[in-house]
Amino acid sequence: MSFTAKTRIEVPAAESLIASLCTHLEKHATLRSRSEDGGSFDFGNGTALLRRQAGTLHILAEASSEADLLYLRMMLASHVVEMSEGEPRIVWSGDGAGVARPPNFRVMTVLAARDITPHMRRLTLKGDDLSWFDSPHLHVRLFIPPGSVEPEWPRLLENGLVRLPQGPGKPHVRKYTIRHIDVAAGTLDVDFVTHEVAGPGSDFVASTQAGDPVGMAGPGGGGYTAARWNLFAGDETALPAIARMLESMPRDGRGLALIEVANKSEEQTIPAPEGVAVRWLHRNGAEPGTTDLLLDAVRAVEWPDEDGHFTWVACEFEAFRKIRTYLRKERHIPRDRHLVVAYWRRGQNEDSFATVKHGEE
Ligand SMILES: Cc1cc2nc3c(=O)[nH]c(=O)nc-3n(C[C@H](O)[C@H](O)[C@H](O)COP(=O)(O)OP(=O)(O)OC[C@H]3O[C@@H](n4cnc5c(N)ncnc54)[C@H](O)[C@@H]3O)c2cc1C
Repeated sequence: MSFTAKTRIEVPAAESLIASLCTHLEKHATLRSRSEDGGSFDFGNGTALLRRQAGTLHILAEASSEADLLYLRMMLASHVVEMSEGEPRIVWSGDGAGVARPPNFRVMTVLAARDITPHMRRLTLKGDDLSWFDSPHLHVRLFIPPGSVEPEWPRLLENGLVRLPQGPGKPHVRKYTIRHIDVAAGTLDVDFVTHEVAGPGSDFVASTQAGDPVGMAGPGGGGYTAARWNLFAGDETALPAIARMLESMPRDGRGLALIEVANKSEEQTIPAPEGVAVRWLHRNGAEPGTTDLLLDAVRAVEWPDEDGHFTWVACEFEAFRKIRTYLRKERHIPRDRHLVVAYWRRGQNEDSFATVKHGEE
């Protein structure tokens, strides 16, 4: 079964727009055909045909599910808006018209909460049709209700784009990792670090009760990168991601996982392949984000001589910066052989940190 949608958009400089749009889309999709007046593209999850007729841009999108079609519409519309002069009016007809929920968004309900270590609390969330979230991508954005006011959720507009809430009901958005997902049961687990300095994420997990709503969008961020030898390093915020990657590795996989936590009581049992050593690093009273434990442990790693290794690191910003510099400048590990990211920044909440990160990009 196939789902289709189309739109005709009046644009001022249609000729140059279609040329730059098609050139750009070639980066995201497999080009099927291209002419002066348009192109046809295969995005993997659907196809799109773009054609210019005088001052009008015609787009026909096709996918095998409504969710994929809505996602494709969203991607195409955002590129048209980004690359056009002014604000073109886009109205889609066909399948998906009138759908208001973004395909990658769910309102989840808290089913249960339990402490898995003194500073790690697991929420089990229930929601509709979670197959979209069952992918190698590890992370989601949680939309945490503002508290006193009814939460407002993202909405899909008729132009195919998503409108994020801006009013008093605007939720706080924080990134977390899907620790487990059970599509058949319609549930997933998210493990939250309960840190001392208040934040909407850690406050929510401390106070939430069964039946509370929380929005969820995603997934994203990639997942396990297959390699002959894998190094994983991170603090407790990265523990859920490292655990999930260790679980998804081939059972004959080899490597090392370095995980920084407060102390022994924060260690967890992770079913890692036999060939992957899991080493715990204890802060022993030092505050999170203040030590060089991870950096020193990464420095001490004896990489195998052979090529084909991959390094994945996620932690606090300062540690991220030092480790990334070490890997790139001292060890000269090529960029396609490592991924090092900051999951949080000491002294800054996610909103201000995200603004800085965005600015750096
Ligand atoms: C892709 C991705 C995946 C992530 N997955 C997870 C996950 O599965 N579980 C998880 O717990 N976190 C995860 N994080 C980290 C989490 O998003 C941040 O810790 C976030 O700042 C928490 O939001 P908050 O509302 O609790 O605190 P914020 O409002 O963002 O910050 C308030 C204060 O708390 C401090 N703070 C934030 N996090 C910590 C911390 N861990 N320890 C000590 N102080 C802190 C800040 O520096 C700030 O001073 C992930 C981050 C990313 C980018």
